[in-house]
Amino acid sequence: KARSSFLIVANRLPVDRVVGADGAAAWRRSPGGLVTAIAPVMQRREGAWLGWHGAPGEEVKPFDHDGMHLVPVPLSAAEVELYYEGFSNATIWPLYHDVVATPIYSRVLWDAYRAVNDRFARAAAEVADENAVVWIQDYQLQLVPAMLRKLRPDLRIGFFLHIPFPPVELFWQLPWRREIVEGLLGADLVGFQRPGGAANFVRLCRRLLGLQHHRNEVELDGRRIRAEAFPISVDFSELDTLVREPSIVARAKEIRSELGEPEHMLLGVDRLDYTKGIGQRLKAFSELLADGAVKPGEAVFVQIATPSRERVEEYRRLRNSIELQVGRINGEHSQLGHQPVQYLHQSYNRRELAALYFAADVMVVTPLRDGMNLVAKEYIACRHDLRGSLVLSEFAGAADELKQAFSVNPYDVEGMKRAMLTAMRATPHELSRRMRSMRRRVATYNVDRWAGEFLAALEGG
Ligand code: UDP
Repeated sequence: KARSSFLIVANRLPVDRVVGADGAAAWRRSPGGLVTAIAPVMQRREGAWLGWHGAPGEEVKPFDHDGMHLVPVPLSAAEVELYYEGFSNATIWPLYHDVVATPIYSRVLWDAYRAVNDRFARAAAEVADENAVVWIQDYQLQLVPAMLRKLRPDLRIGFFLHIPFPPVELFWQLPWRREIVEGLLGADLVGFQRPGGAANFVRLCRRLLGLQHHRNEVELDGRRIRAEAFPISVDFSELDTLVREPSIVARAKEIRSELGEPEHMLLGVDRLDYTKGIGQRLKAFSELLADGAVKPGEAVFVQIATPSRERVEEYRRLRNSIELQVGRINGEHSQLGHQPVQYLHQSYNRRELAALYFAADVMVVTPLRDGMNLVAKEYIACRHDLRGSLVLSEFAGAADELKQAFSVNPYDVEGMKRAMLTAMRATPHELSRRMRSMRRRVATYNVDRWAGEFLAALEGG
C-alpha cells in the first residue's frame, strides 16, 4: 500500500459529505484556510491527510480527492460524545480559554480522549513513509505526538495548537496535566498562535517536569523540542479578489438598503461560543442606545451567531442567554419597522460574508479569549476601499498584529462603549490610515506564509 512522505493529522478530514441532486453521496472540500494553505504542499509531496470523516459509526476506505490522499479514521457515536464533545470541547476548550466557562474533569472523557488519540497515532504510523514529515493539528490530538514517536522514532513530527495555550496556574488544574505535556513533547516542533502561548508551554515544562530549557527549546531524553509562535492567517488575495466581484459589491449595497440605509452598520460574525464576548458587546451597544449616545434608527448591529456544538450544555445555556438579551434590547429600543439588533442564528457562505464585511462600517470582534480570530483578518482583507473600522479585543491573537485596530478590553463596558463610538465617528482619513497599515500586515503574513514558515522550521530545525 502507498505510504506518504508528508502527512497531516487532524480531527477532521478537509471534506464534507454532501448528497447531490441525483441522491448520490459525494465529497466536497470544506471551506477554511488550513486546507487552502496545505493543499499545494500536499500536491507537491504526495501528501496524505488523516482524520475523521464526519459520520459516526461508519467505516470509510481511504480515497483520493482533488489531489489529496485522504485516510478516514472512524469514530463511534459514543466517541464523538466523549472524546470530541466531551474532553475536547467541554474540558480542554474552556480550560485553554482562561476558564471563561467551567471545564468538566471526568475520567470517562479522558479515557475516550486517550483511546481516540491512540487510534490516530496507530493510523498515522501505518501511513507515514520512512522519515516522513508529520504535522499534527490542534487540541483534540495532543497525545498523538508522543504516541506516534514511540511507534515511529524515524519521523519528523510537528504539532500546531490553533487555540490559546494557558498560563501555568490555569493548566495546573488539569488532572492529566503531565500526560498532556508529555504528549506534546513527542513533537520536534510545537507551534502556537502567540509568543505568550509558547512561553507558557516552556515555563510549564520547567515547572511540571523540571526540564532544562534554552530560550524557546526544551530538552527531553537528549532531544530538543522547539516551542515557537506561528500566527495563522487568511488567504488575503482570494478574499481581496472575491470582494471586488461586481455581484459582491452589489450584494453589499443591497444589504445596506435592506437594513434601511443606517448611518452606521456594526457587524459581529462568530460561532455562537462563550469565548466570543457576544453578550459583552451587545451590552455595550444597548447602553449606548439607552444613554442616547446612539439615536434610535441611527445604527444597526448585525450579529451573525453561527450554530455551534449544540449538544454541549454550556452552548445551550449561552444561546438562551444571548437570545433573551437580544429580545430585551429590541423590545426596549425598536421602532415600528426598525430593530437596532439584527440577530441571525445561521451559517453563511464566503460570498455572503464578504458582502457583509464590505457593507459594514464597524466590525466588532470582542472575544474574551481567542487563539487568533480569523474574522478580524478577513474583514481587513475585504476592505480595499480603506473604509471601515475594526474594534478588536486585546484577548484575541490577532491583536498582536493588528495594532491599528480600535483596541478594547471586552470586560470593560465603558471602554467598549467608548471604542464603538470612536470607531463610528472616526474620519475617513483616520480610517484609511489605520486600514492601510493593517492590510499591509495581513497581505504579507497570509496563510501560505504561515504554513511555509512552520514547515521550514520543522524540517530545517
Ligand atoms: N464563518 C463562516 N460562516 C459563518 C460564520 C463564520 O464560514 O456563518 C467562518 C469565518 O469566515 C472564519 C471562521 O468561520 O473563517 C471562523 O474562524 P475564527 O478564527 O474567527 O473563529 P473560530 O470559529 O475558529 O473560533
